[in-house]
Amino acid sequence: MTLDEARLLAGVNERSQHLFRDGYYAKRLDEYIVEINTPDGETYEVDTVFETCSCPFYKAWQGRHDCKHLLGYPKLLGDQEQARQRAMRERTYSPHPEEEEALP
Ligand SMILES: [Zn+2]
Repeated sequence: MTLDEARLLAGVNERSQHLFRDGYYAKRLDEYIVEINTPDGETYEVDTVFETCSCPFYKAWQGRHDCKHLLGYPKLLGDQEQARQRAMRERTYSPHPEEEEALP
């Protein structure tokens, strides 16, 4: 592996860990396929069983290196779930203005 290649892959690893923050969205199409929507409006499909992705990066490396979608989709799904639960909690538990005034 060349130094450039190592740097590139380190960047991919790093970026794969904050896809949610970067505006990516993952959706399970079925048991095996996760669809990734990128902030640029592209859509890629990650096959979680064969561990392949339909993005240009994955194709360019012919599967020798995982792309950030493949590396990052589990965390992306997890982050989305957390955000969803947080939103639900805030809706459920946000005190009514009158209640808030009654608090000591
Ligand atoms: Zn990919």
